[in-house]
Amino acid sequence: MPTLRVFNTLGRELVEFRPLVPGKVGFYGCGPTVYDYAHIGNMRAYVTHDTVCRALRWLGYEVTHVMNITDVGHLSGDADTGEDKMVKRAHERGKTVYEIAEFYTEAFFRDTARLNIERPDIVCKATEHIPEMIALIRRIEEKGYTYAAGGNLYFDVTKFPSYGELARLKLEDLKAGARVEVDPNKRNPADFALWFTKSKFENQAMLWDSPWGRGYPGWHIECSAMSMKYLGEQFDIHAGGIDHIPIHHTNEIAQSEAATGRKWVNYWMHNEFLVLDKGKMSKSAGGFLTIQTLVDRGYDALDYRYFLLGAHYRSQLQFSFEGLDSAASARKSLSERILALRDKAPEAAALAALGPAARAYREAFAEAVCEDFATPRALAALWGLLRDAEVPPAEALAVAFDMDQVLGLRLRDTERPAVAEVDPALAARIEALIAERAAAKKAKDFAQADAIREALKAEGILLEDGPSGTKWKRA
Ligand code: AMP
Ligand code: ZN
Repeated sequence: MPTLRVFNTLGRELVEFRPLVPGKVGFYGCGPTVYDYAHIGNMRAYVTHDTVCRALRWLGYEVTHVMNITDVGHLSGDADTGEDKMVKRAHERGKTVYEIAEFYTEAFFRDTARLNIERPDIVCKATEHIPEMIALIRRIEEKGYTYAAGGNLYFDVTKFPSYGELARLKLEDLKAGARVEVDPNKRNPADFALWFTKSKFENQAMLWDSPWGRGYPGWHIECSAMSMKYLGEQFDIHAGGIDHIPIHHTNEIAQSEAATGRKWVNYWMHNEFLVLDKGKMSKSAGGFLTIQTLVDRGYDALDYRYFLLGAHYRSQLQFSFEGLDSAASARKSLSERILALRDKAPEAAALAALGPAARAYREAFAEAVCEDFATPRALAALWGLLRDAEVPPAEALAVAFDMDQVLGLRLRDTERPAVAEVDPALAARIEALIAERAAAKKAKDFAQADAIREALKAEGILLEDGPSGTKWKRA
C-alpha cells in the first residue's frame, strides 16, 4: 500500500500519517447537537468521518471511532453567547430537554443508517459524562488557568501561550476584534466558560452539583473530557467541520493541553462546508434540507452519499438538485454495471488471485485513498474498473466490492428491481392484462392484443414474449 498522507490543519500541510501506536488509530469526530434534525450540511461532516474511518480500516488499521452527542450546554453562539439551544427548543415544544435530546438522537441515527454511515465504536452523551468534565475542569483550575466571575468559571486564554495556533489567530487581534455580544464577566473576549451556574432560564432542567456551584458545563469541555476518557490523553485524529477551527477546536486544545501539560491531538482534519445557492446552511437559521426531505422527493439517501463522495472533503461543495440528479443517475448506472457483471460471473473472484488489469485499478484506488482520502479519484478508479472490458467480470466484481468497503455505496446489495417490490395490486392487474392479451391473440384479435401492449407501455411496463409465456418488466 502507498504511504498514507493526510492534510493536517495544524501546519496546513499534507503530512505522512503516523499513529501513536503502530496499527491503531484513535479517531474523535465532534457529533451532533440534538435539539433539531441534522441538515444535509451536517451530514457532510459525518459522511467524511465515516469514509475516513472506513478507509483507515481498509488500509489495515484498527480504528476506535468516538462520537459525542451534545445534549447539554450548547449555546446559540459558539462564543458562550445566546441561549442554550436544547433548553430553548424544550420550552418551545413544551417537552423536557431529555425528551428533545432522545427524539433528535434517534432521528440522527436513522439518517446516518440511511447514508450507510457505520455506527461509531463509542457514542457518548455529554449528560452522562458530567463527572469526567468536572474532574477535567478541576485539573485545569489546579494548574491556574481559570478564574471565577459572575457565578461562572472561565478559562483565561492569555495564560495559554499557544492559544489560537490551530486557527492561526493572534491574541492581540482577538482582543481588538469587536465581538457582537461580549460576556461582561470575561477578562478577554476569547476567554470561554468551563462551568456555568447562571442560567437564563429559571427552570433550567439540566443542573449538576459541582465545586463551582450547581450548574452545567460549557460546551467545549465535553469533547476534551470524553475523547480523553475513551482514547487516552493523547490520540491521533480529531475531526469536524471548518467552522469549528476558530472557537470550538481552538478552545478544546487550550483546555486539554492546559490540563495535561502536553500535546493532545496529532492530526486535525476539517471538512469544508456544503453550501446552498443562498449561502451557508445552518441549523439555527432554520429552513434547511434534511435526509428525509431528499427521501420525500424520491431520492435514495445513498444518492446524497455519492454526491458527497464526488467532491474532496476539503473543497467547498455547492448543493443543487441537478447535482443530486446526476449522482442518482450515476448510481443507477453503477447498479446496472454490477448486475451485468453478475450475469457474467455469479461469484466474485478472490482478491489474492487478481490479474494485472484489475490489480492496477485497485492500486489507483489505494493511491487516491492515501492522498488525503481523495474520493473523487477513488470513484474514478471504480468507474475505470467497471468500464474496462479487459478486466474479467469476476475480478471486476471482487475489486468493486473491495473498494466499496471505503465508499459505502452498498454495491453488494445491488438487486434487480424485483417483482416482489411491486405493489401486489399492480402486479395482479398486469397479469390479468397479459392473460387478456393472450386470449385476444388466440382469438386472432391482434388489434386488441397490440392495444393492451401499447397501453402497458404507456405506463412504463414492457412485455416480452418467450417460450414459457409472456413476462413483464419496467422500462
Ligand atoms: P453542529 O450540530 O452544528 O455542531 O454541527 C455538526 C457538524 O456539522 C460539525 O462538525 C459542523 O462543523 C458540521 N457542519 C455544520 N454545517 C455544515 C455544512 N453546511 N457543511 C458541512 N459541515 C457542516
Ligand atoms: Zn467537539
